[in-house]
Amino acid sequence: MTDIPDNMRAMRIHQLGSLNDLTPPLHLETISTPAPASSELLIQVHACGVCHTEIDEIEGRTGPSELPMTPGHQVVGTVVKEGPGCRLGLLGKRVGVAWIYAACGACEWCLSGRENLCPQFVACGRDAAGGYAEFMLGREQFVHPIPEEIGDCEATPLLCAGAVGYRSLRLCALANGQSLGLTGFGASGHLVLQMARFLYPDSPISVFARSEKERSFAAELGATWTGDTTDTPPRAIDAIIDTTPAWLPVLCAMESLAPGGRLVINAIRKEDSDQNLLAGLDYERHLWCEKSISTVANVTRSDVTQCLQLAQKIPLRPHVTTYPLEGANEALLALKKGHIKGARVLHLSP
Ligand SMILES: [Zn+2]
Ligand SMILES: [Zn+2]
Repeated sequence: MTDIPDNMRAMRIHQLGSLNDLTPPLHLETISTPAPASSELLIQVHACGVCHTEIDEIEGRTGPSELPMTPGHQVVGTVVKEGPGCRLGLLGKRVGVAWIYAACGACEWCLSGRENLCPQFVACGRDAAGGYAEFMLGREQFVHPIPEEIGDCEATPLLCAGAVGYRSLRLCALANGQSLGLTGFGASGHLVLQMARFLYPDSPISVFARSEKERSFAAELGATWTGDTTDTPPRAIDAIIDTTPAWLPVLCAMESLAPGGRLVINAIRKEDSDQNLLAGLDYERHLWCEKSISTVANVTRSDVTQCLQLAQKIPLRPHVTTYPLEGANEALLALKKGHIKGARVLHLSP
């Protein structure tokens, strides 16, 4: 078994502010390795995905519940120690930790399979220390065994972009043959497109993205039509998933929906720079004919499990670009600039 050092390295948020103004946004520090309490596991982190939500945390749109905070909620590692009362035999196993770090298990949402809506939802890397570190704690009941065929780095985007994307696809309630649209084509979009092609093989898929690079990547992955955010698709669309931080794509998507069409917004927060556009929301053009809008909030454990199973079946192997732990700031700044193929991942150990 691994020797557990007393101290570990972590990249932590100390202060909130605009990503571009903070120098640096995250601080590399040496802190005590945490000890697992009852029903907790100590996980040696192999890889942790970098998500736009970390930018939302640093910029205060969904700020950490305490500072300093170690972010990171797409973590793959090995269980190196079990706290008292652990029963699942996970010691030595490779597991993943997703955004759902814990939920209460007793409220009406937890009891009805909607633990993602639990008022006591604990978000990994926001409300409990996450995976931008050499070690982290996880709750035994809330970690996910990772299928052997999926590598550490490739597994990380499945735990957030994949799992939340899978949830948003479920909320679209698509029937095979009905058309799907994706507005924004980042880490989640490229996974959702591949899941949709597998689950709904006869459904045409339209992708709206600002950059030519993203559009050609979407076409490569099988999108039947691609265009800019404001372009009109060849035919109205039955369901659209929005993964952008802005409002313009929401208005454009509502206009592109077919009667009875559904828009699912998969974004933890929207930025307010173009919120004034909502004053142009027109009832007849954007909403009439039973068009609906919903959001996707967090994930449940079963979303994560089902996404991992689906990834095995397809097989779905995300494109990743890796950085060392201390490269987290560089990865976040690059993510904010956007326009990359696939996901960014911190790779801690081989
Ligand atoms: Zn995420
Ligand atoms: Zn609950």
